[in-house]
Amino acid sequence: MVLEHNDRLVRVGVTSSEASGTYAVEDAFELEMPTRVLGLDEAGEWLMMIADNEGVDHPVVSRMAMSRSLQGLAFVDEWCISVRKKKMSQLLLVHEMAHLVTANGGHGREFRTQVVTFVRRYVSLAHAVRLHEMYVAAGLSVEPFAATK
Ligand SMILES: [Zn+2]
Repeated sequence: MVLEHNDRLVRVGVTSSEASGTYAVEDAFELEMPTRVLGLDEAGEWLMMIADNEGVDHPVVSRMAMSRSLQGLAFVDEWCISVRKKKMSQLLLVHEMAHLVTANGGHGREFRTQVVTFVRRYVSLAHAVRLHEMYVAAGLSVEPFAATK
């Protein structure tokens, strides 16, 4: 099993500053503009709808015991997303989903653009506008908002 992403491990200094910058923006964004919180079944259904719309396979969403510093993991090889808690925000889910569909695997420009795209399509335009603004304000590169349709 390949651990493609140890999200939130950055807090103990393992990952890049680009990853930590991305997490910091997403945490601040979630406080300012919370996204809906879903249970595991709802999360699976929501991601199934997204996958159908995006033309990719349905990811499996499951709970997994993981360190308290982690909230979610994306396993690209198994096409699955694991979460630590029973309930999770839509933002956490689209973050992990963006890992599944972006090729390079990191928290870079392509990844952030994909997160904004998913938020725009499946959460709300207002959320997407604000998240994009916050990435830019933090000096994190992202495609122009027009590219996230
Ligand atoms: Zn991540």
